[in-house]
Amino acid sequence: MPVQAPPQNTPTNETATPLAKAIFDNAIDGLITIDDQGIIESFNPACEKIFGYEAVEIVGCNIRVLMPEPYHSEHDGYLEHYKTTGKARIIGTSGREVSGQRKDGTVFPLDLSISRFEHDGRQHFCGIIRDISQHKQREKELRDSESRIRSLVTSTVDGLITINASGQIDTFNPACEKIFGYTAAELAGKNIRVLMPEPYHSEHDGYLENYQRTGDAHIIGTSGREVRGKRKDGSEFPMDLSISRYELDDGVYFCGIIRDITKAKAEEDNRQRLMQRLMESNTELERFAYVASHDMQEPIRMVANFSEILVNEYQAQLDTNGREFLEIINSSAIRLQDMVHDLLQYARLGRESLSFGEVNLEEQLEHVKINLSELIRDSGVEIYHAPLPIVSGSSVQLLRLLQNLISNAIKYQPANAHPVIRITCDPQDDYWRLAVSDNGIGISADFVTQVFEPFRRLHTWDAINGTGLGLAVCRKIVESHDGQIWAESSPGHGSTFYFTLPKARGRHPQ
Ligand code: ADP
Repeated sequence: MPVQAPPQNTPTNETATPLAKAIFDNAIDGLITIDDQGIIESFNPACEKIFGYEAVEIVGCNIRVLMPEPYHSEHDGYLEHYKTTGKARIIGTSGREVSGQRKDGTVFPLDLSISRFEHDGRQHFCGIIRDISQHKQREKELRDSESRIRSLVTSTVDGLITINASGQIDTFNPACEKIFGYTAAELAGKNIRVLMPEPYHSEHDGYLENYQRTGDAHIIGTSGREVRGKRKDGSEFPMDLSISRYELDDGVYFCGIIRDITKAKAEEDNRQRLMQRLMESNTELERFAYVASHDMQEPIRMVANFSEILVNEYQAQLDTNGREFLEIINSSAIRLQDMVHDLLQYARLGRESLSFGEVNLEEQLEHVKINLSELIRDSGVEIYHAPLPIVSGSSVQLLRLLQNLISNAIKYQPANAHPVIRITCDPQDDYWRLAVSDNGIGISADFVTQVFEPFRRLHTWDAINGTGLGLAVCRKIVESHDGQIWAESSPGHGSTFYFTLPKARGRHPQ
């Protein structure tokens, strides 16, 4: 931009040396000269850029036009003081921070230094101006970000420690004070080892030594690892530690984030202990059920057999009451026999060592139809099924699963019904979801999950006989195959029993 020629009688036109003129025109800082009345005599290109005025429009104006309040009035005071005393107390080359006002009215911070010179027997002043708005903005951003980080460091529930490459503690936040029992002041400059019990103490020395030798900080990681810390009172505790590395002008630092996991560990240990006790008591219960049902089989068989002999051979010698009582004994013995048989089957499920392999469910369904042929014939049930898959599992157990569900679907029907069963199969990720639906009496919503519990029956023995263990057996089988079983049903609208089984790799329904 061409420089507007300064007006006559100013120190920067004909009197300026070529060097002074070159500096004036090309300086990055703004240069202004004013006379002893505050009238602008020259205004360099940098000033034009800073204030948004062209030299031609500002030269001849009072310098106050470039000043917002309070500098405006202050400046008048300075000039007044100068006029009366001859002392210009604003002069100085070290610069001071004031505000300027642009042509568009906006105010900005600037560094100003002022010098005085004489020309044509009059005093003049030269101001050097540096726009520091960007610098101030950066400073503000830095301050904001620092205060954000500071508030994060002080308010986070996790402990935060920074150390230098020699292991000396630099930052120790309030959460750390709470965790370790030291104050930040106590630990400033101390070695981080003071917070570590053995073997971490010695290990840490090894890490730092290795880092200083090779630059390899292999301890760094944000995923966290479990180590132990040492409190001021000497007690040790487990903590999760993640470490990151950062560099400042004066070297490398490490930042450790610490979470005291004493409570979480204690809870986890408790949970583990409880699980262990639960497993032991389950195993004990299963062993008891197995032994009891196994050992009860024989005496019950004797009661059933001999009561049957009595019914067949001695009932003529009994009166009506005697015969009735004997019938009750006999049917109860048979019922007990069924229960013990089913209980034994249920208890065996957890104990038998199974051979798992590929099981063709279509083949198992055919076996079920053979096993239940009498029931199927008598009930007139129609069974439809989609192509069934080959799954990973135990063929014996999966046959039992299908058989229990199909026999229930036939059994739980209204009187004179025409039972229809549909078996479907849908793929679901790594599993097949199979469903056995019937058009039977259904189950009310309150019981639809309870029916899988052992001995949970919704009918009396006399109404529909059963032991209440069939679905419990189904659940155990499905769960031992890593699957799930559930039912959807409503009274009068039939039931659907769903179960999932893992797919055998690469095999699909034909
Ligand atoms: P059980 O048939 O020996 O009683 P289960 O464990 O097989 O024992 O069934 C538990 C209860 O669930 C049954 O008593 C019955 O009330 C109900 N139930 C099972 N399957 C069906 C079904 N398909 N329709 C209606 N109710 C059923």
